[in-house]
Amino acid sequence: MSRRLLIAGNWKMNKTNAEAAAFLDAFLPEAGGRPDVEVAICPTFTALRTVTERTSESPVMVGAQNMHEKESGAFTGEVSAPMLRELGVEAVVLGHSERRQLFGETDIAIQRKVPAALAAGLLPILCVGETETERAAGDTERKLRQQIQTDLAELADERLAVVTIAYELIWAIGTGNTATPEQAQDAVAFVRALLAGRDASIAEGVRILYGGSVTRDNAAELLGQPDIDGALVGGASLDPSEFAAIIAQAPRRAPE
Ligand code: PEP
Repeated sequence: MSRRLLIAGNWKMNKTNAEAAAFLDAFLPEAGGRPDVEVAICPTFTALRTVTERTSESPVMVGAQNMHEKESGAFTGEVSAPMLRELGVEAVVLGHSERRQLFGETDIAIQRKVPAALAAGLLPILCVGETETERAAGDTERKLRQQIQTDLAELADERLAVVTIAYELIWAIGTGNTATPEQAQDAVAFVRALLAGRDASIAEGVRILYGGSVTRDNAAELLGQPDIDGALVGGASLDPSEFAAIIAQAPRRAPE
């Protein structure tokens, strides 16, 4: 099965509205050359309206970086999936390692957010991955199994295909240390095998991204791996030319 590549930029807590608009002025004219690659930008909540409005005539998909699982209620500081949809947001990053590590987000919370995102019509981009210590201890597979099993427990098998997964080796995020293409491929293939344990044919169609210090210099090799269906890009997505160059590096996949 041929899976369409997705390159998603996670801006984290960067860019004001004015900076987001300036990014798009530079990026959109450069980004049109690869209709075979899906592109997403995930700005801060405050820049979402600017980015959805300015990309409305382009194929660029807009994602949020988090959401609450409930539609509304007494959850100070939170934003819900229907609120995001109303702004034209189409995707949402869930369970990013920074949310897990810095804000105590649990697998149980993520388990509830995945179906809530889908119910509102948002594409969930579910982040999973191990720390450096877990990898060194040989715990990578155990960690990935636990995250995939728990985070997707509330999702029926036939709905697995609509989730995008981002495998991120945590020590590679924002550090300039990238997983080797083989390490990334092995971990992503393991995630696919875990999904195949639920439904083999659906697992073949699930898009699994790699994330962790992707740049224009390493993108081609990482994205050339057979199970890696794109990238979640942090730092390098803040620069329009760098992000466009990563997209341009994506290999062309033969349609089946
Ligand atoms: C990320 O934010 O998910 C990420 C992979 O960041 P970076 O590309 O900066 O490592």
